[in-house]
Amino acid sequence: MTAQIIDGKAIAENLLTSIKTRISNRLQTNKRAPGLAVILLGADPASSIYVRNKRLACEKVGIISKAYDLPPSTTEAELLALIEQLNNDDTIDGILVQAPLPPHIKDEHIIECISPSKDVDGFHPYNIGRLAVRQPTLRSCTPFGVIKMLEASNINLMGLDAVVVGVSNHVGRPMTLELLLAGCTVTSCHRHTKDLAKVIREADLVVAAAGKPGLIQGEWIKPGAIVIDIGINRLQDGRIAGDVDFNAAKSRAGWISPVPGGVGPMTVATLMENTLLALELQESK
Ligand code: NAD
Repeated sequence: MTAQIIDGKAIAENLLTSIKTRISNRLQTNKRAPGLAVILLGADPASSIYVRNKRLACEKVGIISKAYDLPPSTTEAELLALIEQLNNDDTIDGILVQAPLPPHIKDEHIIECISPSKDVDGFHPYNIGRLAVRQPTLRSCTPFGVIKMLEASNINLMGLDAVVVGVSNHVGRPMTLELLLAGCTVTSCHRHTKDLAKVIREADLVVAAAGKPGLIQGEWIKPGAIVIDIGINRLQDGRIAGDVDFNAAKSRAGWISPVPGGVGPMTVATLMENTLLALELQESK
């Protein structure tokens, strides 16, 4: 068997095109374009690339992006003051603070300061809680992007035995909640899981989000299973790889998403959709 490749790049392009149309329809009826504030502290190379991609996506769909490139010495109080100012700015619908933050700034202080209605990353405890109680509003971009990618591939999730590898607040945990919402029976694995291979061998759907290249071996994949690789790992030779041994897994899986070109573009497209949704939700109040 050779798996069907889930082309996240193409699916994301379609999503961006539909967002662009929705925004241009707004402009034609004299409604304003959404605004996204993108805050970057320091010049970490990977973060700079992510931020550039997000700003380019804004340009593509017609979202007004405002750049706040701050020095790494910015204090937590200064960053909180900027967020407070953006919370009160009627032209800003989404506020994104690119991770990782310098060690002197506490992630949770920053996330909790962002107004939940402008939390387009979907990281605020309010938005995670909404997802947990099956009333999602702004949903974490990467897990929601995975759901959109599966939907676009016409994969029915209802009743599947799913495994999520990784339980971080931003990725693994909301991914587990998304799959529960979609009707899967979900097992969450993490670094203390006793026998990862055993759990994966029984799964109809494997979502890897551990940040460990090659962690998921091809021979663990149940024949015909769906494999979604969220991991982004830079190898010593400079190449980017996921958490799944792609070449071995693709000869057993029914569907598989590659890295790069899988979940990454979906995350950015979902951020664009969340920014538009944040504006629409405010207007509907
Ligand atoms: P994290 O380090 O916060 O969490 C990693 C999780 O993996 C932890 O819960 C840990 O318990 C688990 N884990 C680690 N080693 C394990 C092992 N041997 N067996 C089982 N579980 C193990 O990382 P994160 O922020 O959740 O990101 C995970 C990966 O996803 C990273 O590679 C990151 O770059 C990538 N990522 C990709 C996107 C995207 O758009 N594609 C977005 C966000 C993160």
